[in-house]
Amino acid sequence: RHLKKYFPIKCGVMRRTIGHVKAVDDISFSIRRGETLGIVGESGCGKSTIGRLILRLLEPTAGRVRFEGTDLTSLSKSAMREMRQHLQMVFQDPYASLNPRMRIGSLIAEPLLVNKKASGKEAWKKAEELLEVVGLPQNAMKRYPHEFSGGQRQRVGIARALALHPKLIIADEAVSALDVSIQSQVLNLLKDLQNEYHVSYLFISHNLSAVRHISDRIGVMYLGRLVEIGDKKGLYANPLHPYTQALLSAVPVAKPNAKRERIILTGDVPSPVDPPQGCAFHPRCSKAMEICKRVRPDFIRINEAQSAACHLYA
Ligand code: SF4
Ligand code: MG
Repeated sequence: RHLKKYFPIKCGVMRRTIGHVKAVDDISFSIRRGETLGIVGESGCGKSTIGRLILRLLEPTAGRVRFEGTDLTSLSKSAMREMRQHLQMVFQDPYASLNPRMRIGSLIAEPLLVNKKASGKEAWKKAEELLEVVGLPQNAMKRYPHEFSGGQRQRVGIARALALHPKLIIADEAVSALDVSIQSQVLNLLKDLQNEYHVSYLFISHNLSAVRHISDRIGVMYLGRLVEIGDKKGLYANPLHPYTQALLSAVPVAKPNAKRERIILTGDVPSPVDPPQGCAFHPRCSKAMEICKRVRPDFIRINEAQSAACHLYA
């Protein structure tokens, strides 16, 4: 609720703060049990920061994160460490996040040994099961990450994230580094695992087709703000916010005769150091009105399935 993360910009030998990057600027949303919420937006819009704030890998400047009634933002470091078994992360580059000197079996067993104080034998057995769940052969247990392809390594990353039976997995650009054909395999695996484990996903990506493939609901971010959130169906059929309309217009549609005009955004994304007053999208919005330059639009519910922050709907 009302999550903010401002990074100070320091300057000179005195490291004086001369401004702030408003990476996340007053964002509220919720994720339901067993659902996938996709977060889309161009790079630098603050989507990764949100994932890190939820896990408290970063401390918010303001706002709260509640998980099943517990206020994560006020937990002590050790209480948060306990809580982390319910909240796991899958990263973009599985190679960078997997220790190259550890065997796959140990990589998957490690969280069980550390967090669950499982015996070596128990953990190894559980790792074997997980390996099967993510579709890797048993002989992978004794091999090293470099012996596997990107898609297989991402399966190891997912097995590791699943080891503690988390309730929420935050996937940050989890398939972005993979070939398109491998992407859909990993997305399908994530979907299957969701049905089996009733896990919720926060699926962060700049890749609109991946987000569409996996999400139940989608939130669209622009310059540190959420501009629209809604059910996937409604959002794709009837995007409300002019930024969502522009983003989606760039994606090829499956039906070739379905008419969707391509909206070309002019101008660059403004700097998050000094975002435009009023609606941050106004310098690039073809529908901007006088009020848009002065007043930041409230995030309001527009129909049963969609909410947006835009004066067109006020
Ligand atoms: Fe465009 Fe105004 Fe809506 Fe912003 S509030 S998206 S500038 S119409
Ligand atoms: Mg990112």
